[in-house]
Amino acid sequence: MTGSNNNIYMPFKAVIEEAIDMGCNVKFFKVIPIPPHPPLSKGGRGGFIDYIPGQFFMVSQWGAGEAPISVTSTRGLQRHIEFAIKKVGAVTTVLHKLKKSDTIWLRGPYGNGFNADAAKKRDVVFIAGGIGIVPLRSLINFIQMHKKQYGKIFLLYGAKNPSEILFKEDLKAWNKKGIEITLTVDVKDESWKGNTGVVTGHLDRVKTDFKNACSYICGPDIMIEKTMKELTSRGMPDRQIITTLEARMKCGIGKCGQCYHGIEYICTNGPVYTYEEIKKRRVYGP
Ligand SMILES: Cc1cc2nc3c(=O)[nH]c(=O)nc-3n(C[C@H](O)[C@H](O)[C@H](O)COP(=O)(O)OP(=O)(O)OC[C@H]3O[C@@H](n4cnc5c(N)ncnc54)[C@H](O)[C@@H]3O)c2cc1C
Repeated sequence: MTGSNNNIYMPFKAVIEEAIDMGCNVKFFKVIPIPPHPPLSKGGRGGFIDYIPGQFFMVSQWGAGEAPISVTSTRGLQRHIEFAIKKVGAVTTVLHKLKKSDTIWLRGPYGNGFNADAAKKRDVVFIAGGIGIVPLRSLINFIQMHKKQYGKIFLLYGAKNPSEILFKEDLKAWNKKGIEITLTVDVKDESWKGNTGVVTGHLDRVKTDFKNACSYICGPDIMIEKTMKELTSRGMPDRQIITTLEARMKCGIGKCGQCYHGIEYICTNGPVYTYEEIKKRRVYGP
C-alpha cells in the first residue's frame, strides 16, 4: 500500500469523529480518512478504505512515532475506521491525548487479515483475551452479517477483572443476535456473579463438535498457546485454529526487520496464522 504521494512511509490524514474513554486505559477512536488516500474499495462503494478484519494500520501523531493498531470496525459496515487503543507507552500515551476533530495519521491497511472463508459452513468459536477482543470484534461483526454461511457462533472472552471487559454494548447486541457468549474474569469484584478463571477452563461451555468447528483466537501469547493446545486436544484440526500473533513492529511493510520471526516478517506474512502454519514455520509456540 502506498501513501498519497507514493512514498510508502507517508501516512495519510484522518479526522477523529469520536474519541471515547472505554475505561481501563483503553480509548476508542472513530476516524474518517481524508482523501486523497489509498486504497479505495474495489466493491463500487467509492471512497471507502478497503480492509479486512485482522488487518492493522500504523497509527501516528507527527513527532511521536507510530504504533500498529488493528481495525475493530468491519469492512462494508461504514465509511469510517474504528480503533481501540490501550495506553501502554510513548506512542499510545500521545494518541490518548487526541480528541474529537483532531487529526490522526494512518498508513495501511497492512497484514494478511483473517480468512473468514475457513469457517464457512462450520460452527465458529471466537476466543479472546483482554485487548484481543479488538481485532476479533471486526470479524465477529463480519461473520454475524453473513451468518447464513456459518454454523453456530460462540464467543469465549476473558478479562483481568469485570471493569476490563470491553465493548459491553456489542456483547449485549451479539447475545440478542444469537451468539453464545461466555465471559470470565481472572479476579472478580462485588458486582461480578459470573465465571472466573482463564478462558481455557471454560471451553466445556462451548457446545460444538470441535473436530468440525473453526476457531479464531486473539490475546496474550500465553493464552494463545494454551488455547491452541486445548483445542487440539479436543480434536480441532490445526488448519481450523486461527490466531493473530503479536510482534514488535516498526515499518509494517517488511523492510525494517523488527518483526522477523522464524523465516518471515509477521507484518507482511501475518499477523494471522493457522496453527498448522505456526508449527510448520516455527514463528511461535511449541
Ligand atoms: C498487528 C498488531 C496489532 C495491534 N493492535 C492493537 C490494538 O488494536 N490496540 C492496542 O491497544 N494495541 C495493539 N497492538 C499493540 C500496540 O501496537 C502496542 O501496544 C504499541 O505499539 C505500544 O507502543 P507505545 O510506544 O505506546 O509503547 P512502548 O513504549 O513501545 O512500549 C510499552 C510497553 O508495551 C510493550 N509492547 C510494545 N509493543 C508491543 C507489542 N507489539 N506486543 C507486546 N508488547 C508490546 C513494551 O514491551 C513495553 O513494555 C497491536 C500490535 C500489533 C503487532
